[in-house]
Amino acid sequence: MAASKYDAIVIGGGHNGLVTACYLAKAKWKVLVLERRYIVGGACVSEEVWPGYKVSTAAYVNSLFRPEIVRDLNLRDYGFEPIERNPASFSPFLDGRYLFMGTGTSKDVDEIAKFSKRDAENYPKYEAMLERVASVVEPTLTQVPPNLIHPKLGQLLEMGKMGKAMQKLGPAMGEAIEVLTGPARPILDRWFESEQLKATIATDAIIGAFMAPSMPGTAYVLFHHVMGETNGKRGVWSYMRGGMGGLTQSIAKAAVDLGVEIRLEAEVAKILTRNGAVTGVALSNGDEFYAKKVASGVDCHLTFQKFLDSAVLPPEFNDAIGRISYSSASCKINVALDRLPSFTALPGHDPGPQHFGTVHLCPDQDFIERAYDDAKFGKMSQQPVVECTMPSSLDDTIAPPGKHFMSMFTQYAPYALADGEWTDAKRNEYADRCFDIVEQYAPGFKASVINRQILTPVDLENTFGLTGGSIFQGAMPLHQLFMFRPVPGYASYNTPIKGLFMCGAAAHPGGGVMGASGWNAARVMLHS
Ligand SMILES: Cc1cc2nc3c(=O)[nH]c(=O)nc-3n(C[C@H](O)[C@H](O)[C@H](O)COP(=O)(O)OP(=O)(O)OC[C@H]3O[C@@H](n4cnc5c(N)ncnc54)[C@H](O)[C@@H]3O)c2cc1C
Repeated sequence: MAASKYDAIVIGGGHNGLVTACYLAKAKWKVLVLERRYIVGGACVSEEVWPGYKVSTAAYVNSLFRPEIVRDLNLRDYGFEPIERNPASFSPFLDGRYLFMGTGTSKDVDEIAKFSKRDAENYPKYEAMLERVASVVEPTLTQVPPNLIHPKLGQLLEMGKMGKAMQKLGPAMGEAIEVLTGPARPILDRWFESEQLKATIATDAIIGAFMAPSMPGTAYVLFHHVMGETNGKRGVWSYMRGGMGGLTQSIAKAAVDLGVEIRLEAEVAKILTRNGAVTGVALSNGDEFYAKKVASGVDCHLTFQKFLDSAVLPPEFNDAIGRISYSSASCKINVALDRLPSFTALPGHDPGPQHFGTVHLCPDQDFIERAYDDAKFGKMSQQPVVECTMPSSLDDTIAPPGKHFMSMFTQYAPYALADGEWTDAKRNEYADRCFDIVEQYAPGFKASVINRQILTPVDLENTFGLTGGSIFQGAMPLHQLFMFRPVPGYASYNTPIKGLFMCGAAAHPGGGVMGASGWNAARVMLHS
């Protein structure tokens, strides 16, 4: 049995765990990262699913990753290379029209005017409204949320600052609160009349959320996806050279240079404690590693309900952890293609603007509502909501010469099906429904498919350790955000166990490849 001592152990080599490890190592701590899989990166990886392909198995686009971390850790020297997408999105419609978005506000306005002059006038105002809300919310991403139950003076002052920022919004405060708590659909219906534009925006409101745009909480999901930047350009999403693993490999390389020890295929089975304080971790093979500080980059279910005995935690804490929602109905389908699809609305197999960004295949908001209606009764959507990206149209390092790769993010494929488990037959039935959708917009697509990988929520759980297949390590309604994430009283990356911290997406500011929870947690640990 191995026995080694470290200043800190990080459970899970997801991007957040790696960021925590780097910041601790920068402070000269001896740090060990233990990762269950054969590769670090968590849900942000590139894998050779088929020979010659670098598949972004789960996460597929970046903008949220904090630029401060890129600078602090010199990640560009280690291969961090975003590839900007212009346009950001392409929405073809079955009547032959199409909408490009994210080409720059003035061009966006021209595009929108093809569908509605009124919407074109409103769009810059809508964007300005989101910017106002972002001015309040974005600074909180890299803040340590206050402990609501036992707040410290400094934390109260920080909260006061947030209140002040909110106050600055003046009469716009009501709309900001609506964005943070309400449903996306009425907001979009108020601002815009064209269903084509609304459907394009609304798909961002349901990403990873087992909700329809008419449900409270979806406006925040939409908003969560408009924060961020690429190369200093706000709101711009990018691919990463070599797939999303390009991002996490750059952090891992920086970590190794800082002296971090990374162990792969090292599955943590137990967090060791004595007298209410952490002492280390035990792997499923029996190896033990010791440290007075442990940061968990996995979700709360694994950390508190699997790795710890409930008897060492306060009962009310166990209850709160038991209430966390992991509801999910996202299914990722990765597709190896012989050629890029030719869309009826804008034909052509050669790489073009219709292939560069995210392709939204959704005619209107009702389509999303109907897809959700099936799923809320435990059925996979008859007609799923599908968005596709084809990063090989801009990055020739991720597919064999002449071949292409498509990432399909789809909903709704409920984790718990009403009629039994996810079998291969059901997986294929669902994927076929998604492929039928693409085929409607790009005839010949199905014939171009060389291979496919289907990851239902159950597969996401088994592969990445994401409970319930929740892509964000726990759903993101208001009561599971900021000072309530993961649970009130423990949002400052602390836990009831002395020396045990949370450092992944389960903690504030939640899911997405942001690095913020990892960075915030490291600061807390360094001052603990
Ligand atoms: C299908 C999908 C698509 C997504 N798309 C995007 C996107 O395009 N853009 C975006 O910004 N975000 C996206 N997300 C969300 C984003 O990927 C995650 O929120 C983010 O990767 C979380 O990072 P993390 O480091 O907090 O945790 P994770 O990535 O969950 O990492 C946790 C790590 O812990 C490891 N682990 C689990 N159990 C153990 C154990 N017992 N012992 C040791 N290690 C263990 C896991 O293997 C994993 O490596 C997507 C997520 C999914 C699943």
